[in-house]
Amino acid sequence: MPKEPLKRPPELEHTPANCHAREMLARVGDKWSVYVIHVLGDAGTLRFNELRSRVAGISQRMLTVTLRGMERDGLVTRTVYPEVPPRVEYALTKLGATLRQLVRGLVQWSEAHLKEVDAARAAYDARNRKPVKPTSLGRSAAQLRARPARVFAFVLAAATLFTGAAWQSVDAQVARTTSAPLDVVLVGGRVMDPETNLDAVRAVGIKGGRIVSVTSGVPAARDTVDVRGLVVAPGFIDLHSHGQDSINYRYMAHDGVTTALELELGSYPVAPWYAKREGKSLINFGVSASHPGARRAMLDGDSTAEGADVISATGAFVRSPIDPTRLPQLERRLDAALNEGALGIGMGINYTPAATREEILRAFGVAARHHVPVFVHLRSGGLLENAGGVAGVQEVIADAAATGASLHVVHVTSMGLSATPVLLDLIEGARARGLDVTTEAYPYTAGATFLQSAIFDPGFQERQGIDYKDILWASTGERLTAESFERYRKQGGLAIIFSIPEGAADQAYRDPHVMVASDGGFQIQNGKPIGHPRSAGTHARILGRFVRERGVISLMDGVRKMTLLPARRLERVDPDMKRKGRVQAGADADLVVFDPARVIDRATFEQPAQYSDGIVHVLVNGTFVVRGSNLVPGVAPGRPVRGH
Ligand SMILES: [Zn+2]
Repeated sequence: MPKEPLKRPPELEHTPANCHAREMLARVGDKWSVYVIHVLGDAGTLRFNELRSRVAGISQRMLTVTLRGMERDGLVTRTVYPEVPPRVEYALTKLGATLRQLVRGLVQWSEAHLKEVDAARAAYDARNRKPVKPTSLGRSAAQLRARPARVFAFVLAAATLFTGAAWQSVDAQVARTTSAPLDVVLVGGRVMDPETNLDAVRAVGIKGGRIVSVTSGVPAARDTVDVRGLVVAPGFIDLHSHGQDSINYRYMAHDGVTTALELELGSYPVAPWYAKREGKSLINFGVSASHPGARRAMLDGDSTAEGADVISATGAFVRSPIDPTRLPQLERRLDAALNEGALGIGMGINYTPAATREEILRAFGVAARHHVPVFVHLRSGGLLENAGGVAGVQEVIADAAATGASLHVVHVTSMGLSATPVLLDLIEGARARGLDVTTEAYPYTAGATFLQSAIFDPGFQERQGIDYKDILWASTGERLTAESFERYRKQGGLAIIFSIPEGAADQAYRDPHVMVASDGGFQIQNGKPIGHPRSAGTHARILGRFVRERGVISLMDGVRKMTLLPARRLERVDPDMKRKGRVQAGADADLVVFDPARVIDRATFEQPAQYSDGIVHVLVNGTFVVRGSNLVPGVAPGRPVRGH
């Protein structure tokens, strides 16, 4: 990556003095340059308008589209719209990305938005009834598509316009765009924001994929939606979602989930995982660097299993230790995956029992160096003194303390069983002494995993405190016997394990720091979803059973555990998460609108593939994915959540 020293383009000398703007210059080959400025906080609304008024022929919408595209392609990280008209805060980033990626991203984005830009340009011209000096902006989409270099020139031009290089007075245009209607306004709903504790009837205005206003008055919008009697909350963020495909995303959307993250087991490698989903996803998505995946790639030369599928595989990676002299190789693989944007390191130590304590410690060291969390399924769960849930937590808290890595313990109730309060005490105590340790639970008394995995190695009954009859074979619904256990274990497939005591989830959720995460993910067999009901019903179950019916936690606490807490868990690895988990001006318009009197899970162990009830509307980045309780066809507004 050729890196130029920062220079100040001469155009910026015209920037209003009190508008604190900074710029960066990236040289593309010897030919093209891209200028992007970022206007920092003290620029203020007025300042931004002054700046914008100097930009000729570029509408507010075009400007927004331009910068959103650049944001999506990793050129700018933050665009904050705290009010209408927006104040904008851009931070340029990703100059460390390869040049090739930069160009490809810009071109892809440009092509996707050319029609919009052309239309906006034409509309502007028509309004002003005067020819606009031709620039590459004025060229047709076809011309631009035919010549990729021109596409790039368009981006250059757009960025240059923003710097104020092509000044023309467009005050009238600015006045019009300032009063232009919003995209969507949700009116009359009970808005709940778990960060400010706002719980009041407000109108939520949305424009350009963001919440731009939360007000008592109702702003004009192209799409005004009456949500009286319903709760408007931030979309749910599921930190522990193995179902990372279009079928699973539909079930999750119907459960109010707007961001699904595979953090427990992650994936390895990471870049193809993101590439496969970009531009095609119903909801936002993200992944961690898979420790078992990296281990498998190293020991078995196989990295074909994506995400959680790795634990259904067999090979040396499960039961072969790595000689300490070779551990740096494993560390380098984890380094590489984190450099590809992974949100942390995911570990399923229980599934790779040969991973030594030293190996796990070294992996924590990698996470610490990258300032990312470790998401961990403990080495052991259950009640045995030397190999139970308490021992499992003690290992990883020690590693976090020794390395400085942040730690997130997954599904605390299925590891702790009746000792769940002891695990919670360990975690709370570590946090009270300054360690960054968090945990989560799913709201069920059964877990699920692959029967062929190491978790069911001999002695599982004693370790987990269960017998064959406590295992349900997901594809047929039958309870197992010694005979069918052996048969199905050879065949391989998903098993549901009834091992968690009633009350363990209540104990976990009463702790204000414990998050809700589903650990869900249907296996798709012949197009049919097979598996645990948590894949479809976790979030509505919290709202319906734990909040409304049983009063275990308040509605605001329930919302917070599914929104703000998971967003905060990731803010240090991805600062964009500061825009999620909130209903505030400036936040991403990821929203769920539900009926608090009716919301309930319908997925059961017998019939898990059932949408939740009472989730009325779901928006992802300002686009409806569920509307009037129905899935909206043909939309893919989900975006990657990445570390940077
Ligand atoms: Zn797990």
